[in-house]
Amino acid sequence: MSATASRTATVAGVEVPTDHYINGERVQSAQTFTTISPIDESVLAEVSRASVGDVDLAVQAAHDAFPAWAALGAVERGRYLHKLADLIDKNIEPLAQVECADMAMLLRSLRARVIARGALNYRNYADLAVAYEERDWHSKGTWNRVQRMPAGPAAVITPWNAPFMLSTWKTAPALAAGCTVVLKPAEWSPLSCSLLASLADEAGIPPGVFNVLQGIGAEAGAALVAHPLIRRVSFTGSTRAAREIGQSAARNITPFTAELGGKNPLIVFADADLDAAAAKAAGQYDDAGQVCLSGTRLLIEESVLDTFLEKFHAATDAHVLGDPREDATTVAPMIHPDHVARVAGFVDRARESGQRIVRGGQRGEGLFYEPTLIEPTGNDAEIVQNEVFGPVLTYQTFADEDEAIRLANSTNYGLSGIVYTSSMGRADRIGRAVRAGVVWVNTFLVRDLTAPFGGVGNSGIGREGGDYALDFYSDLKTLQILDGSVA
Ligand code: NAD
Repeated sequence: MSATASRTATVAGVEVPTDHYINGERVQSAQTFTTISPIDESVLAEVSRASVGDVDLAVQAAHDAFPAWAALGAVERGRYLHKLADLIDKNIEPLAQVECADMAMLLRSLRARVIARGALNYRNYADLAVAYEERDWHSKGTWNRVQRMPAGPAAVITPWNAPFMLSTWKTAPALAAGCTVVLKPAEWSPLSCSLLASLADEAGIPPGVFNVLQGIGAEAGAALVAHPLIRRVSFTGSTRAAREIGQSAARNITPFTAELGGKNPLIVFADADLDAAAAKAAGQYDDAGQVCLSGTRLLIEESVLDTFLEKFHAATDAHVLGDPREDATTVAPMIHPDHVARVAGFVDRARESGQRIVRGGQRGEGLFYEPTLIEPTGNDAEIVQNEVFGPVLTYQTFADEDEAIRLANSTNYGLSGIVYTSSMGRADRIGRAVRAGVVWVNTFLVRDLTAPFGGVGNSGIGREGGDYALDFYSDLKTLQILDGSVA
């Protein structure tokens, strides 16, 4: 990788720029913040901490670069995005090593699929944008044409879990649609997105089109989304931050999309393959449960509870808590001491309020938290209703489909649902009835990137994926020409 680096840190043997990437150059801030490795809590790097002035510099660069990028057209923009995708594919190993050190996702998942998904995002959107045609029709004595105008500079704000993949998921459609971008990754895992900036530089993406700003959410993030030159805000993160970001966007009448947390049901019917269901339920502890789509509320048909739990415990016993760089590890440490404390707080409050801790419920060494299962005393318990974002599951039973649906839809969230059943009719009925952006039947996390993605209720607003994201990054216009008035 090459970039005109100013400050760098060596992380997992990879030299990583630690300053912003603005207008095609590395830009330093006077202040820094520290990023640590969840693996051993060692300091990885001091990273530039954007001031309001730095935010303005980045947005101005994106604003200035916008007219030429928008005018380039989808085919030419696609050439840059394909080049960027090729560079990501060539650099899977350093990207995976750095993200593993900075965020502790399992190295083998990063190598096998997560980083490559980033390349796929750019490739898919480069091609989708070319196919995203204008519509023409004749009515009322006029020709109607829907034109798509690139919206302008977009602010993209991403969370600390899967930072590289989620940043490409958002910046790919923005860039493909003709928007310029200021990306602010999360302060707990900023480094892989800095490498993404280096690759964008190497791909020759013109200065100002793709900018990466490092900093703290309440400072740089807040200033970015409030900037009047920003014409789209795309956010993935917590419901709490989304409320503030949405208010800032509203003040500037800036369209805003948010992919937020979930408290997703994993529903197991008696007719299901219980081995597969239990294995998938235990798999919700992967990535230490730090996955927005995780099925954290196990809803089990009461007639098979004992059999299911026996299989679930056996599958959970097989987990190996350890170093995410080791192949044998299945559960890695959590992201940050503050997050471990937050997760422990949820479980401690559950214990104090009389919920039964069935397994786990304690901190481990370093930043580990034990895979935890809780049987709540009622559906209104905090541990059932609020997102923990850690290796903590609850279980409840249901008697029939109606009760399963009632429980599934009983939180303010609606991101995903997972259903295990062998009945097609039931798959269809439950699939329709669960209020969520996606429902998987007998599987989990399989994604087609052209399908819509997002949440309902507190899980989000707007949809990404396929043309849905291209629509978001475009302003649609109708052009009407009176018949016979032009030659
Ligand atoms: P967070 O909301 O604390 O931070 C997310 C990003 O927003 C970070 O970059 C942060 O710096 C920034 N930010 C925070 N406050 C801000 C503000 N006031 N203005 C502007 N920016 C601000 O979330 P997190 O802890 O990093 O991520 C975990 C959350 O993200 C969980 O709730 C998880 O479910 C959710 N998530 C959702 C999806 C999805 O696709 N639905 C994917 C991954 C994570």
